Order: sequence, then C-alpha cells, then structure tokens
Amino acid sequence: MKIKTRLSLYFTLISSGALLLVLVSIYIAVFSFFTADFYKRLTDRTNLASQLYLKADELAADSMIQVQQKYLEKLPDEIIRIYDDNNISAFDMKHNIYWSKDIINQVRKEGSIQYEDGKKKVVGHYYHDNQGNFVILASAVDKGSTRRMVKLGQLTGILFIIFGTGLFFAGRMFAQKALSPVDKIVTEIRSIRSSNLHLRVGQVKSKDEIYELIDNFNRLLEHLQNAFELQQTFVANASHELRTPLTSIMGEVDVALDKPRDAKEYERVLRSIAADGSHLQETITSLMELAQVDLHYTQAILSPVRVDELIWELDEYWAVKKGPGMLKVQFGDMPEDQELLTISAHKSMLYIALNNIIDNAFKYSAPQPVTLNFEAGAGTVKVSVADQGPGISEADKAKIFRPFYRVNKDRSISGSGIGLYITGKIIELFGGSIQVLSNGFKGSTFIIEFAARNR
Ligand code: ADP
Repeated sequence: MKIKTRLSLYFTLISSGALLLVLVSIYIAVFSFFTADFYKRLTDRTNLASQLYLKADELAADSMIQVQQKYLEKLPDEIIRIYDDNNISAFDMKHNIYWSKDIINQVRKEGSIQYEDGKKKVVGHYYHDNQGNFVILASAVDKGSTRRMVKLGQLTGILFIIFGTGLFFAGRMFAQKALSPVDKIVTEIRSIRSSNLHLRVGQVKSKDEIYELIDNFNRLLEHLQNAFELQQTFVANASHELRTPLTSIMGEVDVALDKPRDAKEYERVLRSIAADGSHLQETITSLMELAQVDLHYTQAILSPVRVDELIWELDEYWAVKKGPGMLKVQFGDMPEDQELLTISAHKSMLYIALNNIIDNAFKYSAPQPVTLNFEAGAGTVKVSVADQGPGISEADKAKIFRPFYRVNKDRSISGSGIGLYITGKIIELFGGSIQVLSNGFKGSTFIIEFAARNR
C-alpha cells in the first residue's frame, strides 16, 4: 500500500474515531436527559396525585383523572395508582390492584423507586402524612423520547458517513500535497546512473526533512562521483603513464643494439634509460598513492583532527628532509577553544594533501624556503603555503587540479601531475576549499580552508 493511501487511512481512522466518540457521547447525553426528564414527569404526576389524594374526601372519585387531564398532558399508556396501608388502590376500583404487593412493599421500604418494565417506565413514592401513609406508583411508555432518539441516531449515522468520507478525501489531498516532493525525487533519482553521477536532485524550498534527505542524497552522490572518478582516473591513466616510459626505454635499447657503438653513446643511452626509469618509478609511486587515496576515499571515516598538531608533524618531517628552518611555520592568533582548531577529516589523507602542496612549493621554488601560515577562528581553519617559485598563470590555475596535468614550462622538473588532483579530491571530501593566488610571474600561495567542528 502506498504511503499516501496509508497516511490518509490513518488520518481518517483517527479523525473519524474522534468524531464517532463525540457523536456517541452526544447521543448518550441526550438519551440520559430524555430518560431523566421522563422520570421527572412521572414524579410530577405522583406529587400531584398525592395532593389530590389528601383532598380525596372533598373530591369526586374520578376528579383526579379530570384534574390531571386538565393540567397535565396525558402520557402514553399512563397508569397511576395510590395504595393505602392495606394495599387498596384509591380512585380506580376497576383494576384495584395493578402493581404486585412486592413492588408496593419495595416502595414503602426504599421511599422511592424507578425502573423500566418492558417499554414502560415506572416511578414509585412513599408519602408519610398525618392523615395516613400511602404509596403512589405511576407508569407510562416514553414514546416521544424513543421516536426522538431514533431520529437522532439516524442523523448521527448520516453525519458520521458524510464527515468520514469528507475526512478521507481531505486526508488523501493533504497526504498527496505533503508527499508530492517525494514523487519528484523518485522521478529524478530514477534517471541517475553510474554514467551520469554528476546529476543532482533538485532541492525543495522549505527546510524540512525532505530538504535534509535531498541534501544528504546529493552529498552521497558527490562522494560516489569522486570515488568513481578516482578509480576511473587510475584505470585510464595507469596503462598510458606506465607504457610511455617503457616504450621509450625499449626504443632506446633497440636503437643502441642495432650496431656497435662507442662508450659515449652507450653512456648517453644509459642516462636516457635512467631518466625514463626514474620517471617510471615516480609514476608508479603516484599511481600507488592514487590507489591508496582511492581506497581511503571509499572507506573514509571522518574523525576529529587537530590541524595545529598535524602542522607540527609536517614541520618535523620537512626539517629533516630539507633542513631546519626551510619550512617557516607561522601561527596566527590561536583560539582558546581547542575545538576551533579541530576539523572532521581523515588524518593520513589530510597529511597527504598538505604534504603534496608543501612538496610542490619546495620543488618549484628550490632552493628557497617555503612559508606555512596557520590561522583559526570565526569557525574556520586556514592553512596557506607560500613559495617564491615561478608562479602559476591565470589559465593554469584551474587546470593544475586535473589528473596528470603539468604546466609545460615545468616539464624539466620531475613530477607526474597527479599530486594536486589528489589534494583537491581529499580537500573536497572533508568539505574544505582550495584556491591559488599568484600573479603568474613570481610566487604562488595555496590557501586551504576548512570549517571547524565547533562553529
Ligand atoms: P606534479 O608536481 O607532480 O607535476 P601536481 O599535480 O602536484 O603534479 O602539480 C601539477 C602542476 O601544477 C605542476 O606540474 C606544476 O606545473 C604546477 N604547480 C604545482 N604547484 C606549483 C607551485 N608551487 N608553483 C608553481 N607551479 C606549481
């Protein structure tokens, strides 16, 4: 059963249940009121009869009936009897005893009684008087109330059916309206395949649960797209990048073996093979790194990482590698709250990303020192790496983050063009941003920003 139908059914069940409860309560209240009212009318009759009985000697035997008919409307099948201490009924001699002795005695015992006898309602009262004690019993059929209750029951039933149907359709309409964004999401999701993971589900305006669902789904898509791209990049580039230097080596060797050559020529060929070999080694290393990042990427569980501590680790590493003071680490104003220095990340992946940038800075500005600036506060953690190298042109600023892209003029410097691609992906995974500042002639600054965990 569709959620829409289920929701409208639940809504109808709950609201019509409440409606039924109200209608039944009204019915019961009206019924009790009518019953009590009828007993009161019977009691009024017994009271009047008692007054007349006291003056009985002054009245003719059937005067009571006449008075009653004059002042009180006759009730259906009405019967009134007055019994003296000997259980002899006054006024009506024809049906001397109407109620059994047991009932009459029960009235004497209890003072007053009321009960239902089939369709009839009966009221009995015991009167003490200095002129004698007597029991009055009155009964009648409550035809009027029964008729009204039947009418009320019919009206209640009709109202219930009309409102119940109305509630079902109203519930269905609201459920349809509330779930219409879900229909839209389902249609959009249907068109997403592994071949078009760049597609995203359109966001809704109101910031509700559906908004969060779409937001999380889109984030999942982005993650999948990145992981997929990394894998595709690896597969697509691995064979090409490995084959190129190998072909070059084979070519050089074939040419050298073609005929006897002098020692100088052999040395040149060996140097060329060594250069290709080292390029091959670098490519294998970066492909392995790419594979490792890919593995981490798909399994990355983000945990709190203190960025300042990571920077001290990098400082130690580069002090050993390049010599003390070559990486100048500068800390700006530090917040007291340690959470403001902490981001959600994967420590070793973040280490790889920052190390790639520092490595490039040293590589392209050798032998000059590199400056690393760290700032935290206002909810963001910012790391800038500045060098005094050749700079990066405006056109290359976006391209350097592509896989295996290398700026032409830097081909003399060893590299594979994969470092910044990996760095960009990692930073994206942790929800950060990276930008390059450079005038294209001298010096480049890479600025990486993350949101602190405790914003
Ligand atoms: P690699 O350094 O292995 O070539 P990267 O992906 O790390 O690959 O960098 C891509 C390209 O971006 C480099 O080839 C280089 O041309 C350029 N680049 C990266 N960092 C710098 C820098 N600090 N200064 C100048 N150019 C840079």
